[in-house]
Amino acid sequence: MSVVTRFPPEPNGYLHLGHAKAMYINFTTGAECYLRLDDTNPEAEKEEFVDHILDNVRWMGWTPSKVTYCSDYFDELLHLAVKLIDKGLAYVDHQTPEEIRRTRELRQASPWRNRPAEESRRLFDDMRRGKVQEGSATLRMKMSFDSSVGCMLDLVAYRVKNAVHPRTGSRYSIYPSYDYAHCIVDSLEGITHSICSLEFESRKASYYWLLDALELRKPVVSEFSRLCVDHNVLSKRKLARLVSEVVDGWDDPRLLTLAGLRRRGIPPAAINDLCKELGMTRSEGRVPLHRLYHHVRAHLDATSFRCMAVLRPLRVVVTNMTDNHEEVVQASLFPGRTLETYGVPLTRVLYIERSDFRTQDVKGFRGLAPGKTVMLRYAYPVTCHTFREHDGQVEEVHVTYDVTKASKPKGVIHWVAEPSPGQAPPSIEVRLYDDMFKSREPESCDDWLADVNRSSLEVVHGVGPPFLASREPGSRIQLERLGYFCVDTHQRVLNRTCGLRC
Ligand code: ATP
Ligand code: MG
Ligand code: MG
Repeated sequence: MSVVTRFPPEPNGYLHLGHAKAMYINFTTGAECYLRLDDTNPEAEKEEFVDHILDNVRWMGWTPSKVTYCSDYFDELLHLAVKLIDKGLAYVDHQTPEEIRRTRELRQASPWRNRPAEESRRLFDDMRRGKVQEGSATLRMKMSFDSSVGCMLDLVAYRVKNAVHPRTGSRYSIYPSYDYAHCIVDSLEGITHSICSLEFESRKASYYWLLDALELRKPVVSEFSRLCVDHNVLSKRKLARLVSEVVDGWDDPRLLTLAGLRRRGIPPAAINDLCKELGMTRSEGRVPLHRLYHHVRAHLDATSFRCMAVLRPLRVVVTNMTDNHEEVVQASLFPGRTLETYGVPLTRVLYIERSDFRTQDVKGFRGLAPGKTVMLRYAYPVTCHTFREHDGQVEEVHVTYDVTKASKPKGVIHWVAEPSPGQAPPSIEVRLYDDMFKSREPESCDDWLADVNRSSLEVVHGVGPPFLASREPGSRIQLERLGYFCVDTHQRVLNRTCGLRC
């Protein structure tokens, strides 16, 4: 038997890292895997989300053997509902959602539970034809009211909704519930293995009850643990709150949406490597983000070329170079991997990281200080003689360079020089990210939104080599000593993917 699986996202938000895990399991388990858009809640669903899902499933490297929609089966689902009523296994109920909740808790059957099938059938027809007001009737499955299993307490199969559906418009005025539609569509589509996250395990009994009731083929249902990531959240509802109140869109690189990870420069192959490592287990699915970064570094180390840029620039003047000194030094594209090089301009005025200079040397500091010599990476040793301060802030450092390269200082620092004398190096905006939340498990905070880390984004303005300005959005690069970065949708903006080591 050939294994057929499905990945069934609801188009009510953007996909996230948890969905990547579900995709990995479904697409690697099935000889065929369908992408099924679970579009049964018209109020929350949008075409924009459908487009996003299609695009990001592809970005993750998956090719669904078919793309289907739950709404493709709306007529068939209605037909089966009538069959269920006729069998005496469903009834129209008039309790409000609140009353249903309360009577369920009390294990009390609805007063309409035993009405004649004929009556339910007529009322269901009225519901279907838009003659019944939203909230005043539902179709409930007649399961097992004295069951101790919550999911068997007469689940709702249909509810009236006057919303316009993104695909079927106003054609239907009632919509099936997840519990009713999911198992039937799995069966109708020929899914052999219905794999879902553990929170659905409690609904397994109802899944099989309904397929038995309708004499439909039963797929094998199995579960895996839901992915949770430390200091972040992965539920669409919470992500939507963050998008409206805290961050800058669904693709904000601090979010673990696939769109955010993509904009941050995370390669999809690294995400899949993490999913492979996590496997399909039922044990606790919580991971720290560095588990993902480990795979990200492995990919980026092998594929992204290096360059030097300075995030918090400090001006340095090489006093023994002439004003019009112009030189091009060769830097390695992939140090230790290939001999390929690229040219870096060296002139009399250059910039180093503020953190690579101290007005007084201290033990263990590898940077520049008065009287101390360091190596400008790929260029010359420089020795600091003086510096200029203004309001307690160092403004300029004066050094001399040793053209003979006689000394071999321990400290090696990165730098960016004026591309030609008097011409400022291109400025870059760099976005550095920290955890989205302060707590490891923000979901368990009383007020999870108050746990947001207000310093999760730091924007700095630095300088880079001229060619950085012309890199395509999405290009990935390693800035030496600083980490892996990705060119944002705005050129000259770099988003830090992750640091060079844990
Ligand atoms: P959310 O709570 O984020 O809305 P959901 O389960 O309602 O998630 P769906 O779009 O219905 O989202 O999910 C599609 C598939 O992805 C389901 O099979 C679900 O089990 C799986 N999935 C969703 N979140 C995770 C997660 N964090 N870890 C693993 N699988 C997940
Ligand atoms: Mg869902
Ligand atoms: Mg959900």
